[in-house]
Amino acid sequence: MDRLFEEIQFIKGVGPQRSKLLRKLEIDTVFDLLWNVPRAYFNRNKVDKIATLSDGAVASIRGRVVNTSTNRTRRGFQIVKAMIEDDSGMITAVWFNQPYLARQLKIGQEIFLSGKVKSVYGFNEFSVTEYEIMDGEEADISVVPIYPLTGGLNQKTMRKIMVYALNNYLPSYPEILDKGMKNRYNLCDIQLALQNIHFPASGEAYLQARRRLSFEELLLFKLSLTIDKANIKTSRGAIIHQPQTDLAARVMDGLPFTLTAAQQQVVNEILSDMEAPHTMNRLLQGDVGSGKTVVAALAMAQAVASGYQAAIMAPTEILADQHFTSMKRYFASTPTVVARLTGGTAAGERRMVLEAAANGEIDILVGTHSLIQDEVRFKKLGLAVIDEQHRFGVKQRAGLSNKGEMPDVLVMTATPIPRTLALTLYGDLNVSVIDELPPGRRMVKTKYIPRSSRRQAYRFIRAEIEKGLQAYVVCPLVEESEKQDLQAAVTLYEELKTGIYPDLKVGLLHGRMKASEKEFVMETFKTGQIDILVATTIVEVGVDVRNASVMLIEHAERFGLSQLHQLRGRVGRGSAQSYCFLIGDPKTDEATRRLQAMEKTSNGFELANEDLLIRGPGDFWGVKQHGLNELKVANLLRDQKIINWASEAALEFKLEVSQETAIDYYITQKFKKSAGIARN
Ligand code: ADP
Ligand code: MG
Repeated sequence: MDRLFEEIQFIKGVGPQRSKLLRKLEIDTVFDLLWNVPRAYFNRNKVDKIATLSDGAVASIRGRVVNTSTNRTRRGFQIVKAMIEDDSGMITAVWFNQPYLARQLKIGQEIFLSGKVKSVYGFNEFSVTEYEIMDGEEADISVVPIYPLTGGLNQKTMRKIMVYALNNYLPSYPEILDKGMKNRYNLCDIQLALQNIHFPASGEAYLQARRRLSFEELLLFKLSLTIDKANIKTSRGAIIHQPQTDLAARVMDGLPFTLTAAQQQVVNEILSDMEAPHTMNRLLQGDVGSGKTVVAALAMAQAVASGYQAAIMAPTEILADQHFTSMKRYFASTPTVVARLTGGTAAGERRMVLEAAANGEIDILVGTHSLIQDEVRFKKLGLAVIDEQHRFGVKQRAGLSNKGEMPDVLVMTATPIPRTLALTLYGDLNVSVIDELPPGRRMVKTKYIPRSSRRQAYRFIRAEIEKGLQAYVVCPLVEESEKQDLQAAVTLYEELKTGIYPDLKVGLLHGRMKASEKEFVMETFKTGQIDILVATTIVEVGVDVRNASVMLIEHAERFGLSQLHQLRGRVGRGSAQSYCFLIGDPKTDEATRRLQAMEKTSNGFELANEDLLIRGPGDFWGVKQHGLNELKVANLLRDQKIINWASEAALEFKLEVSQETAIDYYITQKFKKSAGIARN
């Protein structure tokens, strides 16, 4: 099996240059290569005659290039057209934005195309989604795979590498299913499946391959969860929270509002779970603004009342500061000691906090990732709360609970996993849902505005500020470059401060500021001394300023739905009608649909479903951390039946001691996370 995890550059035909390109596609090893399944196939034997094509048809054709032309549209898109002829007729093929193509296409060439027929002014055009120039090589393969590529790699090279890998490494690929299981679910051998997913011998063989690989993925995924759970869910040594004081009731009485029915319900669920003789492992889901913090406070009160310490970890300093303030307020009239530890905590204070946490003087510790550092010790940690859990990795989450001896764990998120999916995937993981917003909230009115009209939105903001309200302006997301993010923020800030609102108080908040500066800016915004806060996405999660009524997002098309939804959740927290402006120029259909979805609904669950329709299970559900985005073949919507089989099989799956390490490694490679089987 080890051969499979050899680095890709040592494969024949790859070498250092190509391995760099492959790494861009997240292919690091032979194993990754084998799991790099085609995104489509060409069936060279199954083509449509040009003369038979009609408007709207999805088709494949094969013909000769008769002539070519290149044009530019007014908006700067490049369009390449080619007249294609077969023995039945001719059609114009059209490509958008493929700068390299113009040079590749030659008159007389034979070409294979698939795409969609569109009638334009009564003439049929062929809008190309996939193409391949034929050159007599590979002539013997009838169904050819089409792989995801990156600049510098072409399909033919990729196929050659794949053929080599299949021929030379497939025999080392481990079969983890026994005969009985393969028979029961009618599954073929793993090696055959991998061979056929790349080069299907027939349609039937392809379907068999998909089925087996989908099962393989889901089974491994299930196994990794069961194993995780086996590690966590044991009743021996579990903490039984038995409150000795009425602290939770006192905190509740002191609240400036009454809990919603949904909050009350989840509080009951959590408290009874904490009292039970097993370790709590509960996910609290509730849309942005549904009031999860106070639920966490009540759970922490219960832990403290039972003689334990509690900790809450948030993904940003701003959010940790805010939680610290909230907790101090909630526990103000009680003897509970609340402290804070973040990256910005000064050395002297830090020393004191560390000592007080270790000797049990601190009851509730609020913080960021700092909480999982080695130096942090608790005397008796009974409850670990992780807020915005999708922002943390598996290790970090485990890091906090490892600070105690099997503390109860509550993870909170606004990023919804559709309930049915949560159930099929996690089975008995406990989920509590707050499905109601506090009363008096008005739906945030959301409007998409093209960049050319953004001054309208700026005027609107001014009017709101004149009413005594405040606004956020969020800077465009600059992918993967903190430096450029910062640059964008500073530029926008200068522009607004000097150009648009010279008479108003404009503030700036970004990730590179010192902790104390961030805290100061947030404080001034909260107390109303800043009218407009220009910020990077560090305000994305959790920030709660009730007087802010406008959220303006620049270049909204660059953000995913989940982020847009989180950002919008920063407003609509008070009683004033709030607004969200999405400034942008969506260039793709997908981006347009995202912005439309935002205008249509403010419900996180609906948006999650919308997101699923637009692009399949993605980040919205925080699936990255669950390893779900490593599913290459399985489709969570289509493969419900296989999910059930895999769950069934995972329960029965007998792990031989001799297999433990190998399977753990397999899972680790597959999901890029540790399954933790091979402990010790
Ligand atoms: P989230 O679930 O997004 O973390 P928060 O816990 O930040 O939401 O709560 C959002 C706001 O709603 C806070 O200002 C909080 O004080 C307020 N809030 C929470 N519960 C209630 C309630 N039952 N009634 C009124 N306001 C509430
Ligand atoms: Mg929150």
